[in-house]
Amino acid sequence: MVGEWVQQGGILRPGKGIGLQLRWPRKLCGSRLQLAGFAFMGLFSAVLLTVPSATGWILLILIVVAVVLGLVYERRVFCRHLCPIGGFIGWYAQLAPLEVRVRDRAVCRTCSDKPCYEGCTWGLFPSALTQNLDCGLCMACLRICPYDNMALRVRPFGADLAVQAAPRQLDRAWFGLFLLACSPIYTAVMLGPWGWLTEAAYAVGSPAWLRYAAAFLGTSLGIVPGLFWLAVWVGWCFDGRSGTLKRRFTRLSYALSPLGLTAWIAFTLTFAFSKLAYVWPVMSDPLGVGWDLLGTADWAWQPYLVDATPVLQVLVLLGGMLWTVLETRRVVSLRASLPVIIYGTAFTAIMLWLLL
Ligand code: SF4
Ligand code: SF4
Repeated sequence: MVGEWVQQGGILRPGKGIGLQLRWPRKLCGSRLQLAGFAFMGLFSAVLLTVPSATGWILLILIVVAVVLGLVYERRVFCRHLCPIGGFIGWYAQLAPLEVRVRDRAVCRTCSDKPCYEGCTWGLFPSALTQNLDCGLCMACLRICPYDNMALRVRPFGADLAVQAAPRQLDRAWFGLFLLACSPIYTAVMLGPWGWLTEAAYAVGSPAWLRYAAAFLGTSLGIVPGLFWLAVWVGWCFDGRSGTLKRRFTRLSYALSPLGLTAWIAFTLTFAFSKLAYVWPVMSDPLGVGWDLLGTADWAWQPYLVDATPVLQVLVLLGGMLWTVLETRRVVSLRASLPVIIYGTAFTAIMLWLLL
């Protein structure tokens, strides 16, 4: 937001912003920088998520980087190409029940200026959108289109995965598998019973942390994607090696996204309900200076839905598994999908074991 104000002159001097407005280098497009950012933050996640000053510093650094990039490059290049959280949200937004899409492509063919492209803050061509991956849902195109030809629509969950014409990219697939791997790692480190593992993740710079960092990167960038490649390869052999292995790997990685999303939801459920009771006192006294704005400052902490949480986690994970099976079957034959289904089942079993 701050970067965009500077770039565009904010609301006080619209159209009189400052900055170089350069184009983002083509070779830096894609998910590689987002993956690198997520991996970097993952190495320090135990500290970043639990030490308030560390959380504050990382947020400040993200804001400063976004503003500086807003001064050098055009539009929201930080959001689209660099922000690890943006990459996370984009990958799972494929499964969202909302989309911004064109109403009638025939109208666009008669629109000579195409102002929606000029106005898209993410640098997309809105009238050609086929998937949610890069759309930030900023709604600028709805406001700008002179023909009222863009719309925010409700749709079935995961509709992007069914769009045959949507591009499927290997770097995105790799990022999706990396995110999939991170959910059990975070679960083991944050919620698991292994004190030595949690301590190693906290002790940044120590030999134990270096071993943890090597294991984190090796698992998330090597073992999990590597085993998936193996499962896809076995299925490819079952299928008489039809088509290219790379294309099949990429498409099936997209089909695995429901499993990743539900794994993250199940992980989050563990602390969402148990920490929710902290919100009420904080709302009454947000600065910790003794206020009682809403009369909730003295509300005692208590965990909510203690008995229901494991049941919800099982349902969510099994739902994700079933969804992934259906998506996998959409892409390949039954026998080719079997190794991928075994891979997904093993992943689900590990998540259930870690969480329950
Ligand atoms: S401005 Fe509207 S009509 Fe023109 S190309 Fe964009 S979406 Fe289509
Ligand atoms: S909602 Fe925003 S990011 Fe998405 S296509 Fe429209 S202008 Fe671009």
